[in-house]
Amino acid sequence: MNKLSVLTVPAFNDNYLWLIHNGTYAVAVDPGDAGPIMAALDAHKLSLAAILLTHHHADHVGGVEKLLQHINTADFQLPVYGPRSENIAGVTDPLSEGDEVHIAQLPLTCRVIDVPGHTSGHIAYMAPEQNWLFCGDTLFAGGCGRLFEGTPAQMVSSLGKLSALPDSTLVYCAHEYTLGNLRFALAAEPGNLALQERIVTEQEKRAKNLPTVPSTIALEKATNPFLRHREPSILEGLLESGRIRTSEPVAAFAALREWKNQFK
Ligand SMILES: [Zn+2]
Repeated sequence: MNKLSVLTVPAFNDNYLWLIHNGTYAVAVDPGDAGPIMAALDAHKLSLAAILLTHHHADHVGGVEKLLQHINTADFQLPVYGPRSENIAGVTDPLSEGDEVHIAQLPLTCRVIDVPGHTSGHIAYMAPEQNWLFCGDTLFAGGCGRLFEGTPAQMVSSLGKLSALPDSTLVYCAHEYTLGNLRFALAAEPGNLALQERIVTEQEKRAKNLPTVPSTIALEKATNPFLRHREPSILEGLLESGRIRTSEPVAAFAALREWKNQFK
């Protein structure tokens, strides 16, 4: 059985935990809460083969200890992959850019990309065969993560790596923040027709309680202001409102991020 699928596991208010599986074995991405993961494993009769972590925040790693208690035995230790430069309890396989993860049971191969900014050691996992990106709190549908530990220049570089992935890449981010992000995107770029269309489409999904995630790299490049901070249509607004004085890309990105932090 080679065909892999991704199960959406909602948790807390607006988190998405992900289970990549082949019908028998599963890999959990950012299991912030063990309960919903164990319920999904039971419901779909899946055995957990590994855990992938993107960064150290509690809503991404909070379920690891309980999952290990539940699954580890004298003969089997669940591999836990995570960022090399973040000190996360339970990680057995620390990773940084250039490393590859191989999960034999599925089988699944992921490339590791360093994406500092939201946290200083944040990593993302790209499954090239499937064109799936698991990017934690770095790139969101219509937005990006707050800069808790990194600098605007780091985040610009990190988002640049993700936007260089194939257009058809499915973007599995970790939160349902999309409608709020797109409201801000429209303020930043009111004339963007693709953005206006996307807002209608995503509102329809949310009205039916459907997730707006995954999105695609193509859609993010067309509508996400944090990937579009070099576009004249965004720069003009930032210049006119006095948020920036020059069109320097990192300054424009920083001004967008700061504006979004205050945006109601
Ligand atoms: Zn986070």
